[in-house]
Amino acid sequence: MKIAIIGAMREEIEPLLEKFDKYNLVEYGGNKYYEVRYGNLEIIIVYSKIGKVFATFTATILLEKFRCEMILFSGVAGALNSKLKIGDFVIASKVCQHDVDITKFGHDYGYIPESSVYIESDKQIRCVAKSVAEKLDVSISEGIIATGDQFVGDDEMKYFIKNNFCADALDMESGAVAVVCKNLDIPFFILRIISDTANKDADINFQEFINEITKKSAAFMFELIKELIKKQKLNI
Ligand code: SAH
Repeated sequence: MKIAIIGAMREEIEPLLEKFDKYNLVEYGGNKYYEVRYGNLEIIIVYSKIGKVFATFTATILLEKFRCEMILFSGVAGALNSKLKIGDFVIASKVCQHDVDITKFGHDYGYIPESSVYIESDKQIRCVAKSVAEKLDVSISEGIIATGDQFVGDDEMKYFIKNNFCADALDMESGAVAVVCKNLDIPFFILRIISDTANKDADINFQEFINEITKKSAAFMFELIKELIKKQKLNI
């Protein structure tokens, strides 16, 4: 079986890549796809570049060209829920696109005809992720993640998104990966670690914590793969 692990930025995948002795590099469409093996499992690790368009492109290539059968996303996010602090782990129960707005036609924010506002992530992977969190003694919460093509760092926008979508965290890629996976019937999982609280200090917090945070998410993702194999959620 072949699965994919995506981050948006180089920093989000580098610590994970370092856990593998060797890789095969495939360059395609402006991205670098790192093929690694873990026992019989083939894994492709890649960073998409930031935003919904690049995330959609990369996810589609992973499924259509590389024939991956599952996508795991690992990255950072801004917190909307006041209970979430920098460094906390969040897994997406469902995701939405907060910057989709055809409300002028009477639709809800985030709604696209013939689609839905929210897309749910794979329940079984989430369940395994929770057992990994217990094993590693990290607290993890599940919540709604809202995606859009903006780095949010002001209260007005933050509360607009939080209130409209009941969202707990926000990022710039998850909602796009979800659309690709849903439409191609592929299970997906989103892990985000809080890098900032989407307020006026968001950019400063982001830069300060990114490297420390991505080491934590790499360790988690590596354990998640091991556990998915152990629980036979991967067909290898
Ligand atoms: N430091 C980068 C830009 C980071 S953009 C540079 O200068 O090149 C923020 C990235 O982290 C995106 O991939 C997004 O998914 C996530 N993210 C973290 N905090 C966010 C926030 N407050 N709003 C939106 N996305 C956020």
